[in-house]
Amino acid sequence: MSGPYGRVPDVPDVFAAGDATTFPLKQGGLATQQADAAAEAIAAELGAAVEPTPFRPVLRGLLMTGGAPLYLRSALSAAGDPEETSARRTARRPASEVSRRALWWPPSKIAGRYLAPLLATARPPLLSASQMQDYRPGPEGADRDDAYELALMLAEEDAAMGDYGQALRALDAASALTGGVLPAEWTQRRDAWRAARESAQTPA
Ligand SMILES: Cc1cc2nc3c(=O)[nH]c(=O)nc-3n(C[C@H](O)[C@H](O)[C@H](O)COP(=O)(O)OP(=O)(O)OC[C@H]3O[C@@H](n4cnc5c(N)ncnc54)[C@H](O)[C@@H]3O)c2cc1C
Repeated sequence: MSGPYGRVPDVPDVFAAGDATTFPLKQGGLATQQADAAAEAIAAELGAAVEPTPFRPVLRGLLMTGGAPLYLRSALSAAGDPEETSARRTARRPASEVSRRALWWPPSKIAGRYLAPLLATARPPLLSASQMQDYRPGPEGADRDDAYELALMLAEEDAAMGDYGQALRALDAASALTGGVLPAEWTQRRDAWRAARESAQTPA
């Protein structure tokens, strides 16, 4: 169990974040938000000039579809349900949104304020320069470039973790979005990843 600032009740100086807490949804992005709340509370307790922000869960997920992915985002209550407040209803802003356009950037699978830019560092510096930002849903139709960039980024993340099969699938998705054409730099990577996958599968 941990409170809105990650404090474990009845145990002085102990904070918790992530899957080990009693928050009902277990997800990397939510874990980073709990860690942010705990880090700010600890810093404030140690005298840093910060106003701690409580954990306000926002679930962000990517649904891989074989083409352009779907971005899913939902503001949650403390119980882990979609949070439909009267302020949201007045502003006609639903708790949950679905979009083919990026709803946050960098569009990492682990959507954390600092972790998403860190995981994007394998991609050009443009993606990793700042903290993760939320976007409002945009008009449909201009999603192809986002989806292509995302597929390349996921391919690189998977390859960096040694999952060449998944990296090649992400590269196939990128290729499908450009009519089967990939820049030479990426076809070279595809060849290298295929070779790496085969050598990993070959018995010693
Ligand atoms: C297959 C799978 C896919 C997932 N995909 C996604 C995704 O796409 N996006 C997303 O946001 N989330 C995803 N998740 C969920 C995400 O991985 C977890 O919610 C997140 O890792 C939780 O972070 P954590 O720091 O709380 O725990 P963990 O990441 O589990 O970290 C806990 C660490 O503590 C270590 N540890 C355990 N016991 C001890 C001990 N006694 N001493 C020292 N160290 C110890 C463990 O080895 C581990 O490294 C996925 C989970 C799974 C299983």
